[in-house]
Amino acid sequence: MKCRICKEKAVINIKRHNLSLCENHFIERFESETKRVIKKYRMFTKNDKIAVAVSGGKDSLSLLYCLNKLEYNVIGIHINLGIFKEDYSANSEKYVIKFREEFNIPVIIYNIKENQGKGIEELLKRGRGEKPCSVCGMVKRYLMNRLAIENECNVLATAHNLDDEASRLFGNIIYWQEEHIEHQSPSLPEENGLLRKVKPFIFFTEKETSLYAILNGISYIREECPYSIGAKTLKYKDILNKLELDSPGTKERFLKGFYKFKEKVKIENLRSFKGTKTCKKCGMPTTRDICTFCIAFENHPFIKN
Ligand code: SF4
Ligand code: ZN
Ligand code: ZN
Repeated sequence: MKCRICKEKAVINIKRHNLSLCENHFIERFESETKRVIKKYRMFTKNDKIAVAVSGGKDSLSLLYCLNKLEYNVIGIHINLGIFKEDYSANSEKYVIKFREEFNIPVIIYNIKENQGKGIEELLKRGRGEKPCSVCGMVKRYLMNRLAIENECNVLATAHNLDDEASRLFGNIIYWQEEHIEHQSPSLPEENGLLRKVKPFIFFTEKETSLYAILNGISYIREECPYSIGAKTLKYKDILNKLELDSPGTKERFLKGFYKFKEKVKIENLRSFKGTKTCKKCGMPTTRDICTFCIAFENHPFIKN
């Protein structure tokens, strides 16, 4: 297998584009594609300060590395979620610290157990029968937005990839989750106390982001979160992978076709955050008098009594 551009040994064959590339040309294409997507969806410019949500995995560390290399003004934010099962949070944090030291890129580390008194696992003990990922998702959305604002960022970037986005769209469509479908977008505008949210990697597969990480010497946590086992999104990923194997390009056509259709029919209210209220405790946007984050962490330091 030879690189289509220089005929050197290829490191990847991107089947959906029928394109084999060597190490240098893969990295070059990966970075120029990232720039193209940022521009096409008007995600940010060099005048913005971007917070990258960093988990310690391949996608988010690659995104932070790539945006820094492209000379955007970036910082990483890592939340230690207090998932003690299989030492998941402690191990994730180790990779983030290693990355920060090796590449000298700023990453803020926020430990929710130390700062809020409870981690995700304590929150789950409230006995409300909540699913781990919905509690964790609420905490991450709230804190990422808040910490990014506190660090003077005006954009929040997450490293969702093609596999994540296509499986999410698949799940939203088969259960016809209208509101979630409306919100699914490469870029959501700033609104009502929520920062602009962007996803520059949505057209790269997991295989491509992990190769980019490996070729750039980035070590990342390979274990999945113990709470992700059995998650529906993993099942959707499996189904889509089978379709992709049979017909390369299916995932990309599915997602790009959706975004094009959205533009055509002009689905308004991209963010359509219905919370016109402000939390009486912390001042963040919410649909209630007191937001779900403040209810979860009574007496947390953000609360202004
Ligand atoms: Fe949180 Fe669920 Fe992701 Fe684990 S899999 S980090 S619990 S959202
Ligand atoms: Zn080449
Ligand atoms: Zn609040």
